[in-house]
Amino acid sequence: MNDLTRSLENLGLPPFLQELSSVVIALLDENGHVLAANQGFLRMVQPPETAGGPWDVRSLFVNPRLEDVQSLGPYHGGALLLYRGILNVAHDDQPCRSLQGHIYRWQQGRLLVAAEYDVEGLEMLGATVMQLNEELAETQQQLLRANRELKRNEATIQELMHTDPLTGVGNRRRLDEALASAVERSWQYGDALCLLIADLDHFKEVNDRHSHAVGDEVLKRFAALLRDHCRQSDLVARFGGEEFVLLLPDAHLESAVACAERIRQRLESQPLAPQVGRVTASFGVAMLSRNEEGGDLLRRADQALYRSKKEGRNRVTQSIAPGQSAAPNTGCC
Ligand code: GH3
Ligand code: MG
Ligand code: MG
Repeated sequence: MNDLTRSLENLGLPPFLQELSSVVIALLDENGHVLAANQGFLRMVQPPETAGGPWDVRSLFVNPRLEDVQSLGPYHGGALLLYRGILNVAHDDQPCRSLQGHIYRWQQGRLLVAAEYDVEGLEMLGATVMQLNEELAETQQQLLRANRELKRNEATIQELMHTDPLTGVGNRRRLDEALASAVERSWQYGDALCLLIADLDHFKEVNDRHSHAVGDEVLKRFAALLRDHCRQSDLVARFGGEEFVLLLPDAHLESAVACAERIRQRLESQPLAPQVGRVTASFGVAMLSRNEEGGDLLRRADQALYRSKKEGRNRVTQSIAPGQSAAPNTGCC
């Protein structure tokens, strides 16, 4: 208990009123200086650091102003109610608060202020805050949902950007990205990496003899066949019109050549589309050599393919880089 609350005790107020923090009681002299105050008042308005001097709180009363209340009629002895209603108070730079209360004229021109926080207003404020909180939670939920949707759409866009629309296998962009990272991995860990290019033979004739739509169907079936002949970790990409690339990580030349040979034989023995008859393909295979760039690997595989074409088509040709040894049963360049 400090001096101010002790003085309040002298007014004969019950001790619980002095300690209540939701009730504000203060006795002011005619100049608006605090003579006594309860805990509620001290909680609302911090007394100045400099102790001892008069504590002027006139500026605290924004509406009604203390001067206006004081001028409301003469003192008739005993307690005279000067004002009853909302007291708007503002302490320093803090926001204005509304209290519900009374101002009495007390003995010797003093003023007794007794007020409590506007409970109804606080309840309404509490309800508004609750509602705003619920709306905020709902908005956050909506944001989360929109975010998830956005991520899904982004993934779909990424997928579309990397997919050949006709055949559903990867496109040139996917190949470029996958080749760059596979080469990087191979340089870093020394893993084997093979690349295989497959090109349908005399495909133009398929279009010319049947139709472009039948040609499209053949391309789709060829892409599916390539997918069926490789592992999950391999990449199938459409490189150009009727030209496809298989990127085979962790594959040595021998298994890449064997893979190409299996596809070649499957095409030779079973028509891709019954109405078209037999359509063969030529292949070029290369394995990444030490310090080789992805573009050079692609170029060597393409050169091997060119040789397959030149030597009569429907065959597999491998490119042998210095230091590599040839896989059996195919042409070499
Ligand atoms: P080669 O054995 O030398 O590879 O002969 P080719 O006829 O297969 O090769 P060429 O480059 O002369 O012709 C490729 C043909 O592929 C021509 C083009 O009309 C066709 N083509 C390219 N893209 C598509 C496509 O998306 N759909 C269809 N139906 N045909 C396509
Ligand atoms: Mg062709
Ligand atoms: Mg071609």
